[in-house]
Formats: sequence, structure tokens, C-alpha cells
Amino acid sequence: MKIAIIGGGPGGLTLARLLQQKGVDVKVFERDADRHVRVQGGALDLHEESGLAALRAAGLLDVFRRKYRPGADKMKIMDGEGTIYFDQHKEEDHYDFGDEHFRPEIDRGPLRDILLDSLAPGTVEWNSHIVSLTPVGSTSNPVGGWQINFAGGGVAMADIVVGADGANSRIRPYVTSAKPVWAGVTMIEGSVKHPGNTAPRINALLRGGKIFAYGDEKTVIVSGKGDGTLGFTLSFMSEEDWVERHCPDLNDRQQVREWFGKLYAGWGGIWQELLAADDTIFIPRPQYCMPLDLHWDPKPNITLIGDAAHWMPPFAGEGVNMAMLDALQLSESLIGGEGVGHYEAQMFRRFAEVGRITMENTKWMHEPRALGKMLEMFGID
Ligand SMILES: Cc1cc2nc3c(=O)[nH]c(=O)nc-3n(C[C@H](O)[C@H](O)[C@H](O)COP(=O)(O)OP(=O)(O)OC[C@H]3O[C@@H](n4cnc5c(N)ncnc54)[C@H](O)[C@@H]3O)c2cc1C
Repeated sequence: MKIAIIGGGPGGLTLARLLQQKGVDVKVFERDADRHVRVQGGALDLHEESGLAALRAAGLLDVFRRKYRPGADKMKIMDGEGTIYFDQHKEEDHYDFGDEHFRPEIDRGPLRDILLDSLAPGTVEWNSHIVSLTPVGSTSNPVGGWQINFAGGGVAMADIVVGADGANSRIRPYVTSAKPVWAGVTMIEGSVKHPGNTAPRINALLRGGKIFAYGDEKTVIVSGKGDGTLGFTLSFMSEEDWVERHCPDLNDRQQVREWFGKLYAGWGGIWQELLAADDTIFIPRPQYCMPLDLHWDPKPNITLIGDAAHWMPPFAGEGVNMAMLDALQLSESLIGGEGVGHYEAQMFRRFAEVGRITMENTKWMHEPRALGKMLEMFGID
């Protein structure tokens, strides 16, 4: 059986590694031009029972231990005025792989590199933007397979297709009619190239770790990255069409600064540092979540993993972990001969729970009680 994985994100690459380890004929089709395209996004923390469990099964935990960023998981919890209420930099270091509370951080780029380096040469077909699928019959495969159609006109054939192509999956409609539901929050993502120069106070507070700030029903989340840059997100409750109707021109730094000054009016001046650089690229990210009662009847030759299956907001930090656990469970189901339905049943159950927690977090983190609730979670009065 030839398996085609559409999308070379953490989910798709983990699945490719796990299947290839067992001798399965697998290809990953990725729309990025090559592996050197700069990978956007902040640091990701991997959890013992999901992301790390998948890496362990893939035989990649040792290389992960050499490449993760010790200390990057240390966080500060702050309010909008810049007061620090909780500071893990004051706590002792502990790096206990195997402890469920230890959540080592790695940047998206190095995680992708670990997975790519573990694959046989030629496994990933770069510059392969899939636009559609066509079902095809085959004498060797009674269920039939798929013709994969690329932008530009090329095609490839596969017996089983796995959609791992993220939030706006092109493969999802071939599996389910379920659609993402508006989550009530818009996020603006940005990245600061030289934070020591343009965001010196935040950079000094960050110390390569994370800052979570809450106030006035809004958040600012900042995370350091291994290359010395920092990533941040601003999030606030909004209408679904906020980006079309109310978003400032994100290429016009002055407009962005003025918009931020108004929306975050009750916040202290320190946060303006995040918008000080002229070369910051801003990405609007309206937040959606797949329906929590997600379910479809299994089809033997096609399925979804990661955000393609269960896109959800990032407010529980579970997205990448779920994508990698999906990959682990799908690989076990395919190799064990139980088929995709066995994996899907586990994934639906898990998403019902993780998605519920995620949506609860999304709500309270944008309510007046956010700071208090966050501190309560860390046992601080
Ligand atoms: C701002 C932000 C912060 C986040 N923070 C966290 C966090 O702290 N912790 C956490 O766990 N999760 C976080 N997430 C969520 C996390 O990034 C995702 O859940 C995770 O990346 C999903 O992995 P994936 O492999 O399913 O999809 P993706 O990482 O989205 O990968 C999909 C891949 O498919 C490719 N692709 C897409 N369409 C096509 C196509 N048509 N043809 C070919 N290839 C295609 C893409 O180029 C990409 O490489 C965050 C997300 C955002 C936006």
C-alpha cells in the first residue's frame, strides 16, 4: 500500500517517520518550496503523554533532548500594567523527562528539522501544493485509491491519503462535512527580529522564556526563540469579520501602533515595545474550533490528523501535541491492521475533551477574571 501524507507539519512528518520505521511505503507532499523556508510561529511545549510519547515511539527522544531549549518553558504571569505576579525564573531548574509536569520547549523549525532528518531521502516532495483529490479504482486495491492533484497540473497516486494539511485543510471536505465554528477571538501574531534593540525591557523580562499577560479581557503572550528573536500574539474578543471590517493595515506600522494604543488603552507602555520595530510582520489569525462532537463514518482509504481533523485555538497549548499523538495512534492502527476507524474513534474521544478545555480557556482568558484564574491554576492567591 502506498500512503500519501498531505502536509509536512509536525503531525504529517511524525506519521511519516513512524510508518517508515515499520517499512511502509510513504510520501509526504508539502507545499513549502523547500526545507529552508523560514518556519513561522513561536516555541512549542511538548507533553509527556502526547508529543513526547510520539517522539519516543519514533526513536527521536535522544535527539530531541540534545535540541530542545532548557529553560524556555519558564514563564512569567503579568497584568496589563506590567506587574509580575508569578515568575518561574525564581524557581529551581528541573529537567525531568518522564515527569508529566515537565514540558520542554522547542522551536517549530528545529522540531521540523529533527523529523525531516529522520526520514529516508526523497520522502518529502517539496513544492507540492495539493488542490484536490480524485477517487480512482484499482485492480490491486478493491477499495480504490486516490489521484492527488497539484496546483500547476501534476498528479500522484496513492492507496491511502492522510490529510495533515493544517487548519484550512484541502483534504477535510473529502472526509467530513463538519466545518470550523467561530471561537469568538481574533489573534494577531508578530515576531521581533532584534528584541535586544527594539524591545529591551520585554526581552530582559523574558530571558528566553514566556510571558503571559492578561487584562481588560485581552491577552499578550510572548515567547523567546532559539535564534534570539521573539514571537508574540495579541488576542481579544471580536466579531467573526473583524479582520475584513476593522483590522488596521498590518503593513502600516503606525496604524498598527495607533490601533494597539486604543484597544489596549488600559495597558502600560512596556507592551508598545513589541510594535516598535519597522520590520515586524503581522499575521491576523481569527480563531475557530471544529465542533466538539466531531464524528464521521470511517472510510478505509482516507483520514485526517492534527489541525486538519480538529483545528482549535491555541489557548490550551495542545495543538501540536494532539497532532503528534494522532500520528502515533494512526500509525499503530494502520500497522496493527485495525484500520483508520480504530484511530479515529480514539481521536474523536480525545478531541471532545481537549477541545472542551481549549474552548473554556479561550473564554475565560478573555474575561475580566483571566489573571485571577491563571494565578489560581498555579496555586497563587
Ligand atoms: C499563533 C499560534 C500559536 C500556537 N501555539 C501553540 C502552542 O503553544 N502549543 C501547541 O501545541 N500548539 C500551538 N499552536 C497550534 C499548532 O501550531 C498546531 O496545532 C500544529 O502546528 C498542528 O500541526 P499539523 O501538523 O496538524 O499542522 P500544521 O503545523 O499547520 O502543518 C500543516 C502543513 O501542511 C502544509 N500544507 C497546507 N496546505 C497544504 C496543501 N494544500 N498542500 C500541501 N501542503 C499543505 C503546510 O505548509 C504545513 O507545513 C499555535 C498555533 C498558532 C497559529
